[in-house]
Amino acid sequence: MKLFVHLFFIENIFMAKLQKFKSDQIKTINNSVAMAEELVCNFFKMSANQWLRHRYDVKTLVDLDEEEIVQGPFAQIIRYKGRKKDTSLGSSTYDFYKICLQDHAIISVLDRDASLMLFSFVLYVVTHELIHIVRFAKFLMSFDASPDQKIEEETIVHEKTHEILFGLRVPGLKAAFEFYEKWRRPIDDLKI
Ligand SMILES: [Zn+2]
Repeated sequence: MKLFVHLFFIENIFMAKLQKFKSDQIKTINNSVAMAEELVCNFFKMSANQWLRHRYDVKTLVDLDEEEIVQGPFAQIIRYKGRKKDTSLGSSTYDFYKICLQDHAIISVLDRDASLMLFSFVLYVVTHELIHIVRFAKFLMSFDASPDQKIEEETIVHEKTHEILFGLRVPGLKAAFEFYEKWRRPIDDLKI
């Protein structure tokens, strides 16, 4: 029991040290998310009503639970099962997706690569995650796919992200495309 308490304490110290977005950065991210939503909605030709049926939320580190925080990726999608309030039968559940932005990873890559910019980088990341969610919702891809299928899906989603964002005059977007370029190539290239 003592060991558990000790590890828990270390974990909390580790989390407290993770860099979080500041309030001006959160404003920028909100703008990126709004633009990504509009672009993805238009691309898949969904009405606002259809779009709202894809239940999801975008959160940053300050609103993430411990198990929603990862090291490495810039974001991850976690699926939760929701239950409609007005039904007494247990069968009426729906999927809810939480896009968990990993502040520390995004801040770190922006520090390392001066050509990347917060607005356009998060625009890329959130557009990408929204495409995943639309494809889950349309049953084009299973959330519980095999590792091989997931790699293939990554390529497809990166290609679609590029297609949606290509041609926009957004500072730093070209650098974001270059950053993710290898993901748009055929899968075999990744294995070399
Ligand atoms: Zn992805």
